Amino acid sequence: MNASSDSRIRSVVIVGGGTAGWMTASALAKLLGRSVDIRLVESDEIGIVGVGEATIPQIRLFNGTLGLDEDEFIRRTQGTFKLGIEFVDWTRPGHRYTHAFGPIGGRELGVVPFWQYWRKAHAQGWAGELGDYVFNTVAARGNRFLRGANVQNSPLSNVFHAFHFDAGLYAKYLRGYAEARGVRRTEGKVVDTTLRGADGFVESVTLAGGERIDGDLFIDCSGFRGLLIEQALHTGYDDWSHWLPANRALAVPCESVSPLTPYTRSTARDAGWQWRIPLQHRIGNGYVYCSEFVSDDEAATTLLANLDGRALADPRPLRFVTGMRRKFWHRNVVAIGLASGFMEPLESTSIHFIQAAISKLVALFPDRDFAPAGIDEYNRVLQFEYTRSRDFILLHYKATQRPGAFWQRCREMPIPDTLAHKIALFREGGRLFREHEELFTELSWVQVLLGQDVLPASYHAMVDLLSDAELRQFLDGVKGVLERSAAAMPTHEAFIQRHCKAD
Ligand code: FAD
Repeated sequence: MNASSDSRIRSVVIVGGGTAGWMTASALAKLLGRSVDIRLVESDEIGIVGVGEATIPQIRLFNGTLGLDEDEFIRRTQGTFKLGIEFVDWTRPGHRYTHAFGPIGGRELGVVPFWQYWRKAHAQGWAGELGDYVFNTVAARGNRFLRGANVQNSPLSNVFHAFHFDAGLYAKYLRGYAEARGVRRTEGKVVDTTLRGADGFVESVTLAGGERIDGDLFIDCSGFRGLLIEQALHTGYDDWSHWLPANRALAVPCESVSPLTPYTRSTARDAGWQWRIPLQHRIGNGYVYCSEFVSDDEAATTLLANLDGRALADPRPLRFVTGMRRKFWHRNVVAIGLASGFMEPLESTSIHFIQAAISKLVALFPDRDFAPAGIDEYNRVLQFEYTRSRDFILLHYKATQRPGAFWQRCREMPIPDTLAHKIALFREGGRLFREHEELFTELSWVQVLLGQDVLPASYHAMVDLLSDAELRQFLDGVKGVLERSAAAMPTHEAFIQRHCKAD
């Protein structure tokens, strides 16, 4: 045996069995095989947070890595398809726009993005809203869905989608997957953590019954409490409440109603916003709010008054502080999921961050010497992605004309320089650039900026190379193709019925 194989990680201990714990266990079991002993500890008494039902398209890569069949996954999780998020009343009451996945417009004309052409036509007063030229938005408005069809040069050839699913069922599904690949699950409550004297690394965790579990690498998936990363290692937390002041949520399921919509809806309310996530067996709803501006009782009344069907339970309260750990990886502990930080679910990013963390951990999988360069790289990349996503979420609050004290505070708050620069660049001439590992591309930013009335003062000079008549022909042509393609799709409900209806 050579020196390097001798220092390999032999055992991984995952504390927590929510979405983060079971996604991590499944991926490590699949990718590392049985070369490493993987144990997961979870407490039935504590349970899981149980929300987290809307995703972004990257989850398909994760499920693909595991080799999950998409229809089986949808069936097992009571899932539905998601084409984007509809934002209602965010810009001002009575207004709505969609942040859809996938491209904007149709074929590209040279190097100038489609929205530059749209901007000129819109300023001339004859083009419809940007969403009329976004395939997923057009399909979502008609409640249509198709996974993609073999039609060349058609928007139908690649439909960008994500999922809504029942978080509890997803964790259960992944548990079966991970256990079948050798992950050992222990039910029990961790009551103590032992640190190594020499370097402060975590040596073991102890369960309420007295069992001690040793490991080389510990993954903290214990949720908001951050059992290892915070309670044991005191890593510290960057609190972003001054930018994202919502600190509570109430979640309540209600009966399903027709039609089954293929998108998440976010509706602005007096002190925050309400989500609506359609699943096959129910609709998930919640009100994310700032407790300085509304009482819990008032929030519950607002939530319950705005459901599509009969409530199936009492509203469940959740509390949080938006922000991130100063280090996501500290010593031999990697925090994944809510243990690593919390961003409100406005753009459905949390499950993606779990996935991003797992993929980076696999890429930088350590030896038992835990060399610092890999750890620093892990923290740098994830913190960058997390911070830039925060800016994107912040934009929704900043660029609003909504009345009311809460929204006035959001509109007037100072924002990070990175966001101020992005907005200024866009206002000047519709310019947007994605930097490094930013999660959200120009396509996402432009839909929210324009959706919330941040309009560029001018458009790109190259747009004038088209005459007005050519511009009209171009935009009308794109719109017609998108409308005809969407009309050729089955309804979302019919698609699910045919391919992935849950029992
Ligand atoms: P949890 O689900 O809290 O799991 C923690 C685990 O640790 C549990 O198994 C628990 O038993 C265990 N544990 C804790 N302490 C101990 C102990 N002492 N001993 C043993 N075990 C212990 N994300 C999205 O991507 N999309 C969304 O739409 C979305 N909506 C959200 C809405 C709200 C209001 C909130 C709060 C979050 C939302 N999220 C969303 C985030 C999402 O819920 C989480 O990212 C996801 O569920 C992962 O949670 P987790 O596994 O980190 O934590």
